[in-house]
Amino acid sequence: MEPFQIKSKQWMALDTWMNQHPSLVAGFTTKDEGVSSFPTEALNLAFHVSDLEENVQENRERLAEQLNFPVQHWVSTEQVHGTDITLINSNDRGKGAYSLETCIPKTDGLITRESDVLLTLCYADCVPLFFLDPDTKWIGVAHAGWKGTTGNIASKMVKALCEQGVKLNQIQVAVGPSICKKCYKVDQRVISAVNAVLSEHDPKPYQELEAGQFSLDLKELNVQLLKNAGIPETNILSTGYCSSCDQKLFFSHRRDQGKTGRMLSFIGWRE
Ligand SMILES: [Zn+2]
Repeated sequence: MEPFQIKSKQWMALDTWMNQHPSLVAGFTTKDEGVSSFPTEALNLAFHVSDLEENVQENRERLAEQLNFPVQHWVSTEQVHGTDITLINSNDRGKGAYSLETCIPKTDGLITRESDVLLTLCYADCVPLFFLDPDTKWIGVAHAGWKGTTGNIASKMVKALCEQGVKLNQIQVAVGPSICKKCYKVDQRVISAVNAVLSEHDPKPYQELEAGQFSLDLKELNVQLLKNAGIPETNILSTGYCSSCDQKLFFSHRRDQGKTGRMLSFIGWRE
């Protein structure tokens, strides 16, 4: 069953989790019903793309209202396709919420166990990874493009949670909307990095299309790395949505040739 369900024109909920945990807010935005010009009325939620700061602020306010989670309680980061993870507490609320200047620097993964903090990261094709331990209330989210994925941010998130006392087999993970295998063509350099992070006997999540050109399933690769990190397969949900195929719903950096907005992944506990 598809774990993400459309809630309004602006966002889809990670319904499988939200239904089980009524105080949890988790999901992914679409590109609709904002004020940005990608090309029109777009819900761009990132400050680092070429958009007016006031547009992004207005789009964030609109989403905050939909989610019933005030922007002052959001946390956003400077994403660098790295694998650094930051532990967030309530003192961090509002960092990066209204401007790029105040965001958490150089971070592609966030974890917290505190309520009333919304962890957010931006995407246009990269893979959002959501983490949840219902028992201890630890949650997290990561941004995994090919660099973050082959840097194994998935296993680093698992390790970061375990260091906080979370039990490995309690960790739930959801793989969110991102570019599919059919849409994601890469070269040998990327495939070499993929091979380096996989074990010899792991199934290979790519196919060679022609000499030096491959189609890569980044979602599947993350699932494999999570399994290799010890997450039971039954704890992992994966979406069927593709940021590039599902053109009406999402921005896609590849499809839109770089001139595009960003969607937001988010997870937080309501007070
Ligand atoms: Zn696709």
